[in-house]
Amino acid sequence: MTKAAVVLSEELWQIGHGESHPLRPERLQRAYELLTAYEAFDGHHSRLFSTRSATRDELLLFHSEEYVDAVQSLSRGEKSHTPSRYNFGAGDNPIFEGMYDIAAWKVGAALRATELVTSGEVDVAFSPAGGMHHARSDHASGFCIFNDLAVIIHSMLAQGLRVAYVDIDVHHGDGVQEAFYDTDRVLTVSVHESGHFIFPGTGFVQDTGRGVGRGFSVNLPLAPYTDDDVYVWAFEQVVPPLLSWFEPDIVVSQLGIDTHFLDPLGHLTLTTKGYTQVVRMIKESAPRWVALGGGGYEVSVMPRAWTMAYSIMSGQEFPDQFPPSYAEKYGRGTLSDHSNPNTEATTKDITRRHAAKAIDTLREKIPGLRQ
Ligand SMILES: [Zn+2]
Repeated sequence: MTKAAVVLSEELWQIGHGESHPLRPERLQRAYELLTAYEAFDGHHSRLFSTRSATRDELLLFHSEEYVDAVQSLSRGEKSHTPSRYNFGAGDNPIFEGMYDIAAWKVGAALRATELVTSGEVDVAFSPAGGMHHARSDHASGFCIFNDLAVIIHSMLAQGLRVAYVDIDVHHGDGVQEAFYDTDRVLTVSVHESGHFIFPGTGFVQDTGRGVGRGFSVNLPLAPYTDDDVYVWAFEQVVPPLLSWFEPDIVVSQLGIDTHFLDPLGHLTLTTKGYTQVVRMIKESAPRWVALGGGGYEVSVMPRAWTMAYSIMSGQEFPDQFPPSYAEKYGRGTLSDHSNPNTEATTKDITRRHAAKAIDTLREKIPGLRQ
């Protein structure tokens, strides 16, 4: 039986970007409340862990010293560093008091999940607070301050592990791709809405890695309005074959749910049905698995999607109807979606052709898909 764990505790939703920012801490609290309402943790096969803070040395596995110092000083309200130099300011990456602490707690949660898996204590560990895939070594980007994914992948490489990274957020996983663009020891695969239509404007089929890393960065960009059927089909053509070719020791995944049809930031039209099918495929291809959260900005969707993802990871079945304690607080509802955006036949046809064309190009360019 699979042994699974979640790393999630209240430090992670005590400090936030502010009420008007999409990355609301409430998302994590609700996910925690829904998982505990389902009694998802039996303490043996399925365990809940609290986070810890990442140390400065751990942050330096990926981030530059200057940037770590800048985040610390800006977080305290000091004036010694110029915010714009590190891409902080109004908009996506505001400065707020305690931002160093919360960003370091998030990386700490990912490191704890990693330790649980690499030590063999569990087969899969999930840190819903993580998945900060846009952060760079020396600057913030797209709501992300420290890149927990790049930090844990570096810690895995230091242990001699071969790592595959799978990113299903609606946005391209640009920070992680860039961090490992030159190496063949990490395979990065990002499936996302095309950069022609959405932030960060990157992640095209032609971007396949550099030097010995060529063929080890894979991007599958999809057209707006891509739905469950087309997404699941396209994912299946690319991701499982690549993972079986690469033979990773461990899979790291970013499980953003901003692909959902109700999400205010993305333009894909997935439901929890397509999302969970993809999560199941990752599970089937992953020898050991560290899963992180990511985007997902509709608070009624994210806790449901991540609870369903954890039910797959841990091999548990949760009743679709919300448990009474959760329903009392947030209203009655179900884990899965019962409405659906009803993609028109012409739209489906266009999105499928777009995906098929991208897959054809990948088959030409990526050795792992030429088998
Ligand atoms: Zn996103």
